[in-house]
Amino acid sequence: MSFIRSALRLSAATAIRPASVFRQAAQRNYAALTYSTPTVSENPTSLTAFTEEELMLKETVARFAREVVAPRVSAMDEAEKMDSDIIKAMFDNGLMGLETPGDYGGAECSFTAAILAVEELAKIDPSISALCDIHNTLTNTVIRKWANESLKEKYLTRLATDTVGSFAISEAGAGSDAFGLQTRAEDKGDHYILNGGKMWISNSAEAGIFVIFANVDPSKGYKGITAFIVEKEWGVEIAKKEKKLGIRSSSTCVLNFDDVRIPKENVLGEVGHGYKYAIDSLNEGRIGIAAQMIGCAQGAFDIALPYMMERKQFGTAIGNFQAMQHQFAQVAVDIEAAKLLTYNAARLKEENKPFVMEAAMAKFMAAKVAEKASSYAVEWMGGNGFVRETGVEKFYRDSKIGSIYEGTNNIQLQTIAKIIATKYQ
Ligand SMILES: Cc1cc2nc3c(=O)[nH]c(=O)nc-3n(C[C@H](O)[C@H](O)[C@H](O)COP(=O)(O)OP(=O)(O)OC[C@H]3O[C@@H](n4cnc5c(N)ncnc54)[C@H](O)[C@@H]3O)c2cc1C
Repeated sequence: MSFIRSALRLSAATAIRPASVFRQAAQRNYAALTYSTPTVSENPTSLTAFTEEELMLKETVARFAREVVAPRVSAMDEAEKMDSDIIKAMFDNGLMGLETPGDYGGAECSFTAAILAVEELAKIDPSISALCDIHNTLTNTVIRKWANESLKEKYLTRLATDTVGSFAISEAGAGSDAFGLQTRAEDKGDHYILNGGKMWISNSAEAGIFVIFANVDPSKGYKGITAFIVEKEWGVEIAKKEKKLGIRSSSTCVLNFDDVRIPKENVLGEVGHGYKYAIDSLNEGRIGIAAQMIGCAQGAFDIALPYMMERKQFGTAIGNFQAMQHQFAQVAVDIEAAKLLTYNAARLKEENKPFVMEAAMAKFMAAKVAEKASSYAVEWMGGNGFVRETGVEKFYRDSKIGSIYEGTNNIQLQTIAKIIATKYQ
């Protein structure tokens, strides 16, 4: 008893009183200051409202994925190699220059349309979706936003019509801490000499154009990081192609640079601004990965549900058991929630409103949902879920990458926490 009393006395004397906390809260009006920013709209709509152009693209890509990609998915996964006919078909159908202006041979779509295309491809194959997403939302975007006119003319056109692009930041010692990169670009007057290497670079086995981040002045730390557009034939060496758990037909390679000569005009944007371009591109790119993951979740769901309605045990379809119904209903809720976060982040970005936290939330949530939905889908199909023939186990393997690339789950949470904390301090 005396212990409790003395503890109370101590808390009264030294701790923050709840009343004062509430007073401060009222003064700061925390209720009005929610961490996401509501905005006024003349014509607010549901989050699944799209323009006619966006819906047309979504349907066209869905048909392309079903008719052109689907028949080759299993063979590409087994061979761990992207079919060159599929890559050509992606270019021929305008899927490699989604947001690229028409003047450079692109489809000039909205960002949301691009996100819908990534999602539709992932419903059939998250690997081809990765090719499309990284090429469009990272490589094309960084060039479209910051390159000068002559670089845009030269490279956006090729990237929209026949040449795959890669976006290379990560290194053996620089993953989550991307700006700890060690690759150097030495200023030699009219050109730079690039030395070092990169790891985990998507699309790189097929790429002809690379956006490479290197430090031109390590004494300036991350403010020395500069982006360069580098052509493969200038000496980008593919040192190793990784063998992976999932998205196996999407190439992921180690790159080596040994005295690669880069003409000065191939500096992308301003010297020393590479870190800004990288942050900006990855913030946006994360919405693309969220779209890839909701497509992955839906793809697995769409295989398992018809199976559950048909497969009979104990004299009835397994989908009629309440235990199963509750599971698929919960997964459907999760997929819907991840979709809404993703579409909302895409619209915020498109409307030039703050979207960084929302993009991180969308990617974090969609990666979790893809893993959960595809794991359940395997389980719901029993032995048939576990074998490769039905295609559902591939979604389970493919889902894991969503928690790793373009910022791990912890890095997304860190971004979200940082933004929330600033609003309550
Ligand atoms: C298939 C694939 C494709 C990729 N494609 C590309 C590409 O095209 N271009 C490119 O540049 N990169 C690419 N990457 C690299 C990818 O972005 C990195 O793998 C990712 O950022 C994680 O870095 P890491 O692998 O070094 O892991 P690490 O950074 O070593 O992280 C390992 C673990 O530590 C945790 N961790 C690290 N730091 C913190 C922290 N501060 N707080 C809490 N936890 C922390 C992480 O969450 C993770 O769980 C790709 C990777 C893969 C696997």
